Amino acid sequence: MYEKENYHHREIIDRLASGDKLNREEWMILLDSLDDNEREYLHSKAAQTTIQNYGKGIFVRALIEISSYCKNNCKYCGIRCGNKNAQRYRLSKEEILECCKDGAELGFNTFVMQGGEDPKQNDEWITDVVKTIRATYPDKAITLSVGERSQEAYKAFKDAGADRFLLRHETRNDEHYAYLHPSNMSSENRRDCLFTLKKLGFQTGSGMMIGSPGQTVEHLYEDIRFLEELEPQMIGVGPFLPATNTPFENCSPGTVEQTILMVSLLRLRFPKALLPATTALATLCPNGMERAILAGANVVMPNVSPIEQRKKYSIYDNKKSTGAESAQQMEQLEQRLNAIGYHINYGRGDYKIN
Ligand code: SAM
Repeated sequence: MYEKENYHHREIIDRLASGDKLNREEWMILLDSLDDNEREYLHSKAAQTTIQNYGKGIFVRALIEISSYCKNNCKYCGIRCGNKNAQRYRLSKEEILECCKDGAELGFNTFVMQGGEDPKQNDEWITDVVKTIRATYPDKAITLSVGERSQEAYKAFKDAGADRFLLRHETRNDEHYAYLHPSNMSSENRRDCLFTLKKLGFQTGSGMMIGSPGQTVEHLYEDIRFLEELEPQMIGVGPFLPATNTPFENCSPGTVEQTILMVSLLRLRFPKALLPATTALATLCPNGMERAILAGANVVMPNVSPIEQRKKYSIYDNKKSTGAESAQQMEQLEQRLNAIGYHINYGRGDYKIN
């Protein structure tokens, strides 16, 4: 038998699942006060919601990490420009096209190009690469994740044929943002970029690390409120993981529990959003992918980057790029999904409007 108090918590979960708007106090209960049984209940409600909207197929995206050069100096990130020990590489246009060819042969229908803000991969260069991919693969989805750019640049990417853009807001709280980033970066600019991307018609992804240094439950509440305002089509949440040679190298990582709690809450609040089981979670915990899916996630992004470069895209320590995180091992991914009653969906995996 559950205590009355616990029924109350389940009622809040049920109300969230049925589309009710929650107040601050209710959100704080969900974020901070659920016991293990209630969390299990939340995860199963969230997984059911995913199945109702998208079925049991997990969308796959071919991830191409295009550069480990970055002009930014985000304090958490292993490829920050201040990390003189980071190994740097950048893919040429030809190498990216080779990755797309590999991805297409493996059956992928979405390419994601993600990288540091590499000054050599400037707006014109990216526009040209997108145009070529679009011409070569007219039906495949092209996703970019190349940081903060001007409105003109985003428009050029869109006109060239890009469909989606991933840019995590990282944290809605300005002070926390300033704690995580150097003074030349601003939370406001990041948010402006996100609203611009949406206005231009990109399927837009935002999100944040869970358990980043200085993060509080209040910050997560503010993040949810910000996401309600933005209404992104994709939301990426993964645990913060420390990266050697960064100011936060000795900080504790985020936890699996808090990460999947957020996955479930976001699933219930944004039933149609595309939510990845992130590589960071798979790095933190061997069955992180399965746990995220059973908590409501429905996307995985296997790595199709050249194998010799993968280790160099080291945004945090021991980043996983093998097994289910590797596009070359799709059979293993299928088996792991089958073992929990799911399967790969090779479709484009666009956001469902209705
Ligand atoms: N430069 C682009 C951008 O800023 O969106 C894309 C690359 S950036 C490395 C992609 C994401 O990696 C960031 O949004 C951040 O949330 C995540 N990330 C960076 N360092 C991390 C860390 N130490 N632990 C977990 N995630 C991290």
